[in-house]
Amino acid sequence: MSALIHGKTGDWEIVIGMEVHAQVIAHSKLFSGAATDFGAAPNSQVSLVDAAMPGMLPVLNEKCVEQAVKTGLGLNSEINLYSRFDRKNYFYPDLPQGYQISQFQFPIVGKGAVEINLANNETKTIGITRLHLEQDAGKSLHDQHPTKSYVDLNRSGCALMEIVSEPDLRGPEEAVAYLTKLRMILRYLETCDGNFEEGSMRADVNVSVRKVGAPYGTRCEIKNVNSLKAVQLAIEYEAARQVEVIEEGGTIKQETRLWDPVKLETRSMRSKEEAHDYRYFPDPDLLPLVIEQNFVDRIRETLPELPDQKMHRFMNEYGLGVYDSSVLIMERARADFYERAAKGRDPKLTANWVINELLGGLNKDGKSLSESPIAAEQIGELVGLIEDKTISGKIAKDVFAEMMKTGLSPQKIVADQGLQQVTDTGAIEKIVDEVLASNPDNVAAYRAGKDKLFGFFVGQVMKKSQGKANPDAVNELLISKLKAE
Ligand code: ADP
Ligand code: MG
Repeated sequence: MSALIHGKTGDWEIVIGMEVHAQVIAHSKLFSGAATDFGAAPNSQVSLVDAAMPGMLPVLNEKCVEQAVKTGLGLNSEINLYSRFDRKNYFYPDLPQGYQISQFQFPIVGKGAVEINLANNETKTIGITRLHLEQDAGKSLHDQHPTKSYVDLNRSGCALMEIVSEPDLRGPEEAVAYLTKLRMILRYLETCDGNFEEGSMRADVNVSVRKVGAPYGTRCEIKNVNSLKAVQLAIEYEAARQVEVIEEGGTIKQETRLWDPVKLETRSMRSKEEAHDYRYFPDPDLLPLVIEQNFVDRIRETLPELPDQKMHRFMNEYGLGVYDSSVLIMERARADFYERAAKGRDPKLTANWVINELLGGLNKDGKSLSESPIAAEQIGELVGLIEDKTISGKIAKDVFAEMMKTGLSPQKIVADQGLQQVTDTGAIEKIVDEVLASNPDNVAAYRAGKDKLFGFFVGQVMKKSQGKANPDAVNELLISKLKAE
């Protein structure tokens, strides 16, 4: 499933590699004790270390190391017991140190792999090159004053994981699938909240084009791509631009480009020649990071079941199809909700109720699952009432609507409103007889061969029973009574 561009000179393949910055979930920063809450008042979460006051020394936050190792394990990657922090030197107004502490030559996590899910149930393995820990910068505020810029250092020093992929992605669909899967894994691991809007996940997208089978072309790196939609549009735009340049006899210069979400185009930010010389060197304030194998093993034991494993288990254990399973495992809380609801119930029927009715209904109300007025156990109870034929599937929809409105248990709604299904054939027979007696013309027409009228009789009986007659019993009785003569 690769997206080719049909150019004037033939077909072009798009080649993509991603550098994803993921903010680590931790109570404090990578090298200081300052808090990391999003949305706090500007400069309210800045320690002397984050503000780079002279003489301040960084102290490594063990929690961040744990989170990086956990993420590495979740990405099926090698964990490096020896890694090192380096200074990446550059000047930027929101970088008070004048350098960023990062890992260059010796990252904490090495090669790994992620399986992405594509259309038609296809999967593809994408290589992970590395994951390293680094500090985030602060934020310049240019819109607070007509002639001044301000700086908010709350984000300064927060821990980031930079996750670099191999150039294994071919086209926008694969790039979006990769980011989606990566975000899902990070959320399952609870190492990053994956929130694009709040900037806790940011992607730099490297794009090049080549004729199918040719060596890799020169790439451009696109910055500032802040949503899945933007990733797709930026790749489409950039690849088409490169094809046009090459087909018109030009060459692609390796450069950093910026995605403009308003004009929907990429434009040059700086070329490779202007690229910074970061003069990396080992940070003299920090020792090399040496971890022990049993630290890694202990973290491995805390790993949750990950999306791929859960997907396979849902298909095997519950007999669900690819679609149902993939919807249910999208979030850990959603999968847990389903499993609590399905406990002791028909798994397929429960999946239908969770996906179509509950998730569909919440979506319509603009609510998330955590705001659901209905608990998992109540969905289970409702499915149980259908399974033991206390109510029909049709009545269950009314009960469900009432549950959404009131949060009451299905048992109580059914009891209060007298919605139990009538399975007493004597009572149903009485209604069937009444319906047949009051529609002699239709009975005659049916018996003369107008089969389609059967539905009419079913409808009449159901209506008279206020939807409560057991449909199987109604069918059976009607068949036998309409035959007799
Ligand atoms: P740098 O050190 O300049 O950032 P890297 O070799 O680390 O360069 O690559 C950065 C990213 O660019 C990686 O995600 C990699 O997969 C991607 N990349 C490398 N070559 C290409 C290419 N020809 N086309 C698209 N992406 C590429
Ligand atoms: Mg890079």
